[in-house]
This record gives sequence, structure tokens and C-alpha cells, in this order.
Amino acid sequence: MRNQLAELVASKGIHNKKVLEAIRTIPRHLFMDSSFEDHAYQDKPFPIAADQTISQPYTVAFQTELLEVEPDHKVLEIGTGSGYQTAVLLHLRAKVYTIERQRELFKKTNLFFKKMGYRPKKFVFGDGYKGLPEQAPFDRIIVTAGAPEVPKKLLAQLKVGGKLVIPVGEGDQEMLRITRKSDTEFAREAFGTFRFVPLLENKN
Ligand code: SAH
Repeated sequence: MRNQLAELVASKGIHNKKVLEAIRTIPRHLFMDSSFEDHAYQDKPFPIAADQTISQPYTVAFQTELLEVEPDHKVLEIGTGSGYQTAVLLHLRAKVYTIERQRELFKKTNLFFKKMGYRPKKFVFGDGYKGLPEQAPFDRIIVTAGAPEVPKKLLAQLKVGGKLVIPVGEGDQEMLRITRKSDTEFAREAFGTFRFVPLLENKN
């Protein structure tokens, strides 16, 4: 079933071999609520805890391909959720720092990572809007929830040459890739429309 899912994702335009290999390898059904696990290899999002969703495999593959991850890249992920995207980044041999703001999901996914032997460098309970300044700068930053705008604090935590992949907009989002060209210059590319659960800010 995973091979078929990888073929389907490839037919939708994903070419990166390592990304497709991750989809063929990672047991998505284990990242999902047992009531949905029979559907795990459909190319669809599903509910997880705390009213959140595990992203559609195509979307995970699309964002990961845009991110252009290399082994040993220091990658910040905002919105751990089920941990599936985290597992894809780990498969690409990135050093992953990941943040989740829903306590219930944080606890559940933290136990799951331990049980499965997935080892992000850091798994933080907190507000991803702020990034992780004490670990910055990052080679790559990926946001897996819809942001009303690009958080300035995340831009500040990118290395020069680093890339941020983030869906931006209310309701629907446009997938953006922002590349830091110098201390002060950022280039922005847009890659079509997606729909994510919202990136929520802790106002304190
Ligand atoms: N990549 C995950 C996507 C989960 S949905 C997966 O495929 O399972 C997006 C996640 O972002 C949710 O778990 C939500 O709680 C989290 N989130 C939303 N706003 C956040 C914020 N400010 N900081 C960290 N996580 C946030």
C-alpha cells in the first residue's frame, strides 16, 4: 500500500527520490488514530488529537521537496502534530527541531517518538511563531499550519542561503518558499494553493 501511495504522489508531480523513498518506508498508519488506520495509505488528511489533522501525503511530499533538505541540515519544524512530517525529515537525515503548541498532541507524539525510536534533536512544547532563537540559525524552516503572514521571528532565524517553506493566508493558503539571500534580502517564490489548519499564536 505504501508503494502505491508513493506512485500516486509521484504521478502528482513529486520527483525527489529520497522523498518518495520516505513515503514508501514510513508506516503512516502508526501515526494515526486507530479508527482511521485502514485509510492511512489514501492520499488524504485525517483527524488526529486536539482537532488537528495529519497532512495529506502529497502535501507533505510537496513541502519537503520544496525544502531541498540535505543530510545534516539543521531543520526547524513548526507544528509537529502526528510527527509524520518529522519522520520524513529524519528519513532525509536532517537534524530536526520541532515545536507543537497543543499539549495533548505534544504528549502523545512524544511518547510515540520514544516508542518508535524517532529521535528529533529537540521536541519542544510551545509557540512556533517565536521559533527557537536559542538554537538558531537554521538551514531550513518548515511550517505545517496556515500562517496569516510570514512570522518575522522565523525569517530572523534562517541562515543566509537558508529556506523557509510556509503556507500563508487565511482560509486557503499560498505555499511560499522564502530564501535568505543576505542579512537583509529575502527572495519569495509561490507554489499554488493549499488548505491547512491555522497556525495559532500564543498572545502573551
Ligand atoms: N505535520 C503535521 C501537521 C499537523 S497540523 C502532521 O502531518 O501531522 C498542524 C499542527 O500545527 C497542529 O498539530 C497544530 O497544533 C500545530 N500548531 C498550530 N499553531 C502552532 C504554533 N504556533 N506553534 C506550534 N505548533 C502549532
